[in-house]
Amino acid sequence: ISAMRAPYLEGLNAEQREAVEALDGPVLVLAGAGTGKTRVLTTRLAHLLATRRAYPSQILAVTFTNKAAREMKERIGRLIGGVVEGMQWLGTFHAIGAKMLRRHAELAGLRSDFTILDADDQVRLMKQIIQAANIDEKRWPARQLATYIDGWKNRGLTPGKVPAGEAQSFANGKGAELYQAYQLRLKVLNAVDFGDLLLETLRIFQEHPEVLVEYQDRFKYMLVDEYQDTNVAQYLWLRLLAQKNRNICCVGDDDQSIYGWRGAEVDNILRFEKDFPGAKVVRLERNYRSTPHILGAASGLIAANEARLGKTLWTEENEGEKVRISSYWDGEEEARNIAEEVESLQRKGHMLHEMAILVRASFQMREFEDRFINLGIPYRVVGGPRFYERAEIRDANAYLRLVAQPDDNLAFERIVNKPKRGLGEVALQTIHQLANARGVSLMRAAREIITTEELKPAPRRALAGFVEMVERWRALVPGMPHTELAEIILDESGYTEMWQNDKSAEAPGKLENLKELVRSMEQFDDLQGYLEHISLVMEIESQDTGDKVNLMTLHSAKGLEFDTVFLPGWEEGLFPHQRSLDQSGVAGLEEERRLAYVGITRARKLSYISFAANRRIHALWQSAIPSRFIDEIPKEHVEVAESAMGASSFQNYAPSRFSQDFASGSDYSSPGWKRAQTMTRTTSKVRPPNLEVSAELVATSDPAAASYRRGERVFHQKFGYGEVTAIDGNKLTVDFDKAGRKKVIDSFLERV
Ligand code: ATP
Ligand code: MG
Repeated sequence: ISAMRAPYLEGLNAEQREAVEALDGPVLVLAGAGTGKTRVLTTRLAHLLATRRAYPSQILAVTFTNKAAREMKERIGRLIGGVVEGMQWLGTFHAIGAKMLRRHAELAGLRSDFTILDADDQVRLMKQIIQAANIDEKRWPARQLATYIDGWKNRGLTPGKVPAGEAQSFANGKGAELYQAYQLRLKVLNAVDFGDLLLETLRIFQEHPEVLVEYQDRFKYMLVDEYQDTNVAQYLWLRLLAQKNRNICCVGDDDQSIYGWRGAEVDNILRFEKDFPGAKVVRLERNYRSTPHILGAASGLIAANEARLGKTLWTEENEGEKVRISSYWDGEEEARNIAEEVESLQRKGHMLHEMAILVRASFQMREFEDRFINLGIPYRVVGGPRFYERAEIRDANAYLRLVAQPDDNLAFERIVNKPKRGLGEVALQTIHQLANARGVSLMRAAREIITTEELKPAPRRALAGFVEMVERWRALVPGMPHTELAEIILDESGYTEMWQNDKSAEAPGKLENLKELVRSMEQFDDLQGYLEHISLVMEIESQDTGDKVNLMTLHSAKGLEFDTVFLPGWEEGLFPHQRSLDQSGVAGLEEERRLAYVGITRARKLSYISFAANRRIHALWQSAIPSRFIDEIPKEHVEVAESAMGASSFQNYAPSRFSQDFASGSDYSSPGWKRAQTMTRTTSKVRPPNLEVSAELVATSDPAAASYRRGERVFHQKFGYGEVTAIDGNKLTVDFDKAGRKKVIDSFLERV
């Protein structure tokens, strides 16, 4: 097909077309946001197919997310007309790695039906490995080991290749040994973790040249999106596969490298030109996505970074609106105003799915979700669970539910051994058995079991401790503010501590979420009101269709675009994040700035940046300072929104100014607060059955106890045969033939 007859090539600019048509040899497209890199990659793929340079199965195309892979497939279909079958090798590194590994599983000592472990399974397994090696798991937590091992895998390092110095950093030099043991254990289980999907295929390529050659011949063309965020293992993998045909096209933007913390190496861009000499480097400078003001704001901001290759961007779009900067009293007000703006835009005809709220930290989502739920604005959380669906939030809520409603079995099961209290499978089975036999709740069964010898002393003590703790909290409910109680519960239960001791990358975010949870409870009158809110929130299903506002982290927004983008929380300590400020050197700060650049450049038409003067991050109110990134945006591209407080420039927006306005009684009526009140009122109707009342019911509905007699022969699953010597309600003292005298519960006994 000549270019003349290829409609998909029309509309591309000269440089884009050059990148699409340079089919042979290595190509690197290095260009800023919105310049059409992804579009070039997609068109190139379409071009390969349309010109019959390759069959669909001969093209390897790597995207950063599964969603991006699906979209690319659809777009190619539209470009060349009709559905494209057989694009088996279009996907993420993980998906493609998994597919290859299944085909050659035996070469990695696996069966082709191997399981892929998720992060939780991975940590659980590492715990066992650490324990088996007699290493103190408290001192050397499994999650920390997981972080090390992931890091090594990202760098393509098998256990034998871990540098001695680094192996030293875990468990006094046992790092590499544990890594080895973990790998062996995975093999026994016929399992792999995410890192293995690439590392194991890489190893197969290295150890079995015939397999490598098979793939080198198969993949006539290779294409890679978001190249700036590849890690070393991925780079080595690509390089091996491309070495023979050398038809590899990578597109990326060094200014959008935001996964350094996960092992991504921008240096891969520089390495490319070295490893593929003669590579064609195409630069795209025309941005098709955003208005000049948005582009100017983003370009001005990123210019403050030193570590960058540097590039210019221009656009022919109409000038458009300036980036709007607003300041708010606190996060609640910020969420309220943004939600109002969303509604107002919707009334003007904007679609909800063309709006996105991009946050730096996942805890920020909570305020928006609550707001949207209250106002009935449909929303979706992209790239992660919704706030209240996060594991740590579910755990915390389970504690609160159990205190308010001791008969809540799901809550009981979820947290009875979280953090670990030494209540293993056996103990839990025993509790279940009694609860089933009696038709009572797990909590009630537990309370009974601790007065007997059904459990070994250690788990019995642990369970007793747990039951007493929950009862103590329950007694505090009437006399203490529920937020304070929640703090006490998270504290005394050891749940917060569990995450404090956790050295994994996710732990700090989880602790932030827990604090945010406690904060969110303030808007309710009491614990009941809060729990009712939660049950309503959890009911709203999170299906992904329909017109919905998008809520996501900045990290998940990479590659996406929306008409309108809201960027809340631009405050020092939140964005740039404190962790990056605590680091020595500017690398962390520059990665944050790239993240800001990614954020602004997601917008086509409207971009709103905001900050709150007060934010409660670490349990205390902190007056926040506007992010330095706000100052770095050239003034000609921003407009400081007239706020209710009447300031005209954000330099005036010092926290003290806010405090004055607040003290002088400026408007701070919160509709959300009123709504929360109404909600609380309706909830009291569905208060769970009161404990004391149902305890009576249980006692009267259980006549079994009365039917044992002293001197009767009985059998007990654990203790064997014996003779009843005393009866105290449903608790019997039995002289067992082998186990001696024990106090047991009647329903564990059988007559003989
Ligand atoms: P990012 O760096 O954010 O991933 P990108 O460089 O991959 O951006 P694309 O997403 O491919 O950019 O393109 C940005 C927008 O510009 C898309 O809506 C795309 O359809 C549009 N676009 C790209 N090239 C052209 C063109 N030649 N004519 C019209 N629109 C274009
Ligand atoms: Mg892109």
